[in-house]
Amino acid sequence: MQEVNNLFNDIRYIKGVGPKRALDFNRIGVSSLRDLFYLFPRRYEDRRIIKKISELKPGDRAAIRGEVRLTHLRRSRRNRPIYEAVVDDGSSSIHVSWFNQPYLKNVVKKGSDIILYGKVNFYRGLRMNSPDYEILTSGDPDMGIVAVYPLSGRLTQKFIRKLVRDQLERYRGKIKEFMPDFIIKNYSIISRVDALINLHLPQNIDTIEKARYRLAFEDIFMIQLAIGMKRVKRKFLKQGISHNFTPDTMLDFKNVLPFDLTEAQERVLRRIEKDMLSQSSMNRLLQGEVGTGKTVVAAYASLLGASGGYQTAIMVPTEILAQQQYIRILEFLSPFNIETGLLVGGLKKDSNREIKRDIAVGEISVVVGTHALLQEDVKFNNLGLVIVDEQHKFGVQQRRILKKKGSTPDYLTMTATPIPRTLALTIFGDMDISTIRETPFGERKINTYWVGTERRRYVYGFLKELVDSGAQGFMVCPRIEDSEDELRNVEEVYRELKSFLGPDRVALLHGKMDGEDKKRIVDEFKKGEISVLVSTVVIEAGIDVPDASIIIIEDADRFGLSQLHQLRGRVGRASQNAYCILLADPKTDEARRRLNAMVNIEDGFRISEEDLKIRGSGEILGIRQHGFISTESLQLAYQNLDLLESIKGEAFELLERDPFLEDSANRPLAEELRSRFRFL
Ligand code: ADP
Ligand code: MG
Repeated sequence: MQEVNNLFNDIRYIKGVGPKRALDFNRIGVSSLRDLFYLFPRRYEDRRIIKKISELKPGDRAAIRGEVRLTHLRRSRRNRPIYEAVVDDGSSSIHVSWFNQPYLKNVVKKGSDIILYGKVNFYRGLRMNSPDYEILTSGDPDMGIVAVYPLSGRLTQKFIRKLVRDQLERYRGKIKEFMPDFIIKNYSIISRVDALINLHLPQNIDTIEKARYRLAFEDIFMIQLAIGMKRVKRKFLKQGISHNFTPDTMLDFKNVLPFDLTEAQERVLRRIEKDMLSQSSMNRLLQGEVGTGKTVVAAYASLLGASGGYQTAIMVPTEILAQQQYIRILEFLSPFNIETGLLVGGLKKDSNREIKRDIAVGEISVVVGTHALLQEDVKFNNLGLVIVDEQHKFGVQQRRILKKKGSTPDYLTMTATPIPRTLALTIFGDMDISTIRETPFGERKINTYWVGTERRRYVYGFLKELVDSGAQGFMVCPRIEDSEDELRNVEEVYRELKSFLGPDRVALLHGKMDGEDKKRIVDEFKKGEISVLVSTVVIEAGIDVPDASIIIIEDADRFGLSQLHQLRGRVGRASQNAYCILLADPKTDEARRRLNAMVNIEDGFRISEEDLKIRGSGEILGIRQHGFISTESLQLAYQNLDLLESIKGEAFELLERDPFLEDSANRPLAEELRSRFRFL
């Protein structure tokens, strides 16, 4: 019997793995042998030389090997567990401590033979704090430059290393090149098999770099190819819906709007008309900062869909947002007698059942909802348009589930986190992109200041002045890991402000409150009965309060740059002077850079670019969950945008010559592509 492509063998059937370890492997993203070969080590340890403890100097990074002599689990003054050990290698001994890992007492036991790797400190003798360790159970330790993998469950470094080594040995002949020859030559990349071998079993640091480069390169190339293929298919196959509406629709819509569309809005609406009229499916990303008026775009697209008898689903990340969005869409669409519904998790069971029935029979044309829309029993009669707001809050899978509820519905996604164009093209490369840069209210100026917490009183005083003159504001506290701490934190700020401003003018809003209470408080705030809202980041989720003019962000150094910018966007919609005050005593350079960026940069696109620079990787909202591309590859792409452009160019040119990769020379490429992207 002939074995079919061995690399796709399930990891559990590999000798020595078995069903239990297979599950552990699944948890770190490995389900086949191929995944194992592509498992990126988290880092490497240089064990070419194991040092004697007696030769260590403070400041060294070194590997040592010795026996665990004394162990002791104690608690710090703040009641955190500290596990301590003394390790002796015959030449001398060293103190070792690990923080917050009490379970080590069952792992690093007295008498164990251990390898430690870390930085040497000096405090009443030599020490290592939280070094990496490996207990040697049998045989010799792995030496040389060793890969350190992500672990889960019963997996150990030693086990993975041996498995990878054995399997690479066994299968190296089957790891075929798939990148076209000319690419390998022109870009001087190493072969696939060499890259994988060097990734796991490097001879020196240099070979690791070459391996990573090759693998990141192929990653980006394949993505660009996938994007290109999707485009080709979408354009060639024309299998979407051609919506049916009259040319007057725009005029009718404008006539009932309470305001004039901005130029940018109108331009986008015209594009969407074209997209929806066309037989190819629409796949459009609309980016525009908070307040640029994206909802009206969603409403118009729904109107176009409804005109031809198609239903629209609008999915948003939170219940508050869904409610708001629903009310606005309702306002825009009610003159056209379009039935609109709201579907969220928190509604009463009965009314939910009714709404679901109305959706199923097509009574409701436009439904706004949360994740609740994804439930299996939500069935559409004729879903022709899917709109997702803040798509990065949803996973790839969730978006797909929603689209699957129709047959090739058009797709529009909206985001308030603008991303630089090159980046957008890499990530959403198969989408057409529209951007709204202007707000309906013209240029707005938000005066941003960074103030140290020692001047808190002064900031409160400033807030009081504004509030006394009728302004409204937010005070935002950061989300804290421990939700009890979080609550304590907002409550303390709340009490302080109450005593400062007077009890009736301040209200508290936090994630733990139930929906009704939140809604009531937001309503009171809207009506102006409350002046200052103290909250955790729930307000980020889109409470629309047009005339708030000051936002104070507590411990601002704890927020990411994009998030700070989003929060800032919550004020200054009306034309009066608006303020964003960042209260913070940052402790790291990175945090200082973020705060400075906030003070100096107003444009959202430049903020995202700065965010990228500071973080240097794909941590930006929305990319983490993209799911197709590794952080490594993103990093390569960003550090080298020209390279990204030329890889993209190569991929697209290839597709121009051979749109469906049918050429026999491109067959390995086509196979690899299909194995990576099932949807192709
Ligand atoms: P986004 O979703 O992009 O943050 P919204 O759609 O919520 O923005 O719009 C923000 C506010 O601006 C809403 O109150 C909306 O009614 C209003 N608005 C939208 N477009 C215009 C316009 N062209 N002229 C005046 N106000 C507008
Ligand atoms: Mg919006």
